[in-house]
Amino acid sequence: MRIGKIQLIKISTIVSFMVVFCLLLLPSFLIAIYPKEDGSEVPKKIKYDRTIMVFRTESGQTERVPLEEYVAGVVAGEMPSSFEREALKAQAVAARTYAISKIQRSGDSGFPKEHPMAALCDSTHCQVYRTPKELLQLKSEEWMETGWPKIQEAVEETRGELMYYQGSLVEQPLFHSSSGGKTENSEDVFVAAVPYLRSVDSPYEQEATHQNEKITLSISDFQKKLKNAYPKYNFGTINENSIKIVNRSEGGRVEKIQVGNVVLEGRNIRDVCNLYSANFNIKLNNNAIEFTTLGYGHGVGMSQWGANGMAQNGSDYKEILKHYYSGIEIY
Ligand SMILES: [Zn+2]
Repeated sequence: MRIGKIQLIKISTIVSFMVVFCLLLLPSFLIAIYPKEDGSEVPKKIKYDRTIMVFRTESGQTERVPLEEYVAGVVAGEMPSSFEREALKAQAVAARTYAISKIQRSGDSGFPKEHPMAALCDSTHCQVYRTPKELLQLKSEEWMETGWPKIQEAVEETRGELMYYQGSLVEQPLFHSSSGGKTENSEDVFVAAVPYLRSVDSPYEQEATHQNEKITLSISDFQKKLKNAYPKYNFGTINENSIKIVNRSEGGRVEKIQVGNVVLEGRNIRDVCNLYSANFNIKLNNNAIEFTTLGYGHGVGMSQWGANGMAQNGSDYKEILKHYYSGIEIY
């Protein structure tokens, strides 16, 4: 059979398309296959157009949301838009990393029992996520014209970027409002020692809210709260001689505290008395106990106010993330 002129043109067009296709795509395949210099595999980049499933706590429905739209909705839910752009970008990378790692992990262990329909929910259980429609209701039209575009731009400027530790996706990009000057080692607050969650200085928190809060309770109120939380313990008489901070963590949080005849953890006292943080001092007088707390939150990972302060002092989002998450890479 003879090949006609038109067929020949068609074949040559297809062949040239294939050549161009291979030339364009081969380098990315090579990058994906070959290990990096340190021996770790290059993780596959996430698809930019991917969508994720989010469980909406109020409606009880699971919604499909484009990833980057979700990330913007989390940044809006977790950080004030008045923060510096580089701090918003750091928050965007942390939010995206958390989402993708949660989805990856749920592939092995299944979805959480709190929301068995999806890996992620929209509350503080995972991370707070709001849709533009909800943000309009929560904030204002003016905010939608100024704050929202600023957040969307911060997300766009970090599009697809994730944090890795030694070639693996960071699973716990934890953050908190402010540390009180120094963040915590993960094992001093939670159970596990996570290599990138180390105690570091957080020197730029001067503008943070709840930096130095005083909360006063009467001794009888304090005793009542303890008794409710720990009905099996006998605390005995509580006075200035029977309550004492035993030791503190590297970041300054109370680890052990003696209350009457019982030794509790600082975070137990934080929960019972609703303190801003477990980094506190105590003073007893006139039948009252006064707590002075430093910082707001658990103190592990990125301090949001610290991130904002670093940005004000010229750090970019990568410097901020590398400061608060030891030894990580961003790509
Ligand atoms: Zn959740």
